[in-house]
Amino acid sequence: MVMTRAALVCLLLGLVEIDAVQACERGDFLIAVDPGHTRAEPGALSARGMPEVQFNEKLALRLLEALRKAGFAKAFLTNRKQASIPLIERTQLANERKAQLFLSIHHDSAQPHLLSSWSYRGVSYRYTDDIKGYSLFVSEKNPDVAGSLRFARLLGSQLHRGCFAPTLHHAEKIPGESRDLIDEQLGIYRFDDLVVLKSATMPAVLFEAGLIVNRREELLLRSASYQRSIVVALTGAVIDYCAGRMPSKVDEARCP
Ligand SMILES: [Zn+2]
Repeated sequence: MVMTRAALVCLLLGLVEIDAVQACERGDFLIAVDPGHTRAEPGALSARGMPEVQFNEKLALRLLEALRKAGFAKAFLTNRKQASIPLIERTQLANERKAQLFLSIHHDSAQPHLLSSWSYRGVSYRYTDDIKGYSLFVSEKNPDVAGSLRFARLLGSQLHRGCFAPTLHHAEKIPGESRDLIDEQLGIYRFDDLVVLKSATMPAVLFEAGLIVNRREELLLRSASYQRSIVVALTGAVIDYCAGRMPSKVDEARCP
């Protein structure tokens, strides 16, 4: 989809309605689930020393299982067992298979100067207890910005309903952050040059499930029940997307 800059700004601000989208058949719908990072480049390190790649793989596998149970028989992973694969090959695989949606799964950290040190089981690790929450990223360089944003909003709404709160720290005006916050309530940012988002030929969203450098959030993110709750929201968003639903205004969730 080619959009003028003005049209894109309106879209990002939610000032225009996107035309209704045709519903899909779940059994035919191809979603690429992308567990971020590799064993060789494992991403962030948690407050207790677990590499991000392990969190990503666990959540991606749980999601794949849930999607298949929900009827998305053709859902597939872009990477297995933390194999070394360049980012561009992940989207090449999705592009070749003509996936209709690309979802990259990550777990978040914070800029190094915001982290403190503590000792866990005799080893020193970095942490912050001041930042927590999920975030969603879309790229203006993706050929289907409207589709990417529709999925990001549907996912943000599902997470909101599930009482997950976003982090806003990526919008802070500090080196390494300063991202455009498109939707503060749903935690959606614009990050044009994320490789997997701009090289995918289908709508693409990158999901940071939470901060593994936050000592409390890390424990939640490691727990099976919390992972299941995230997967419920992710699966719900894919169902909404496939059904052609449009994001609606979210009410204040009644959360504990
Ligand atoms: Zn990551």
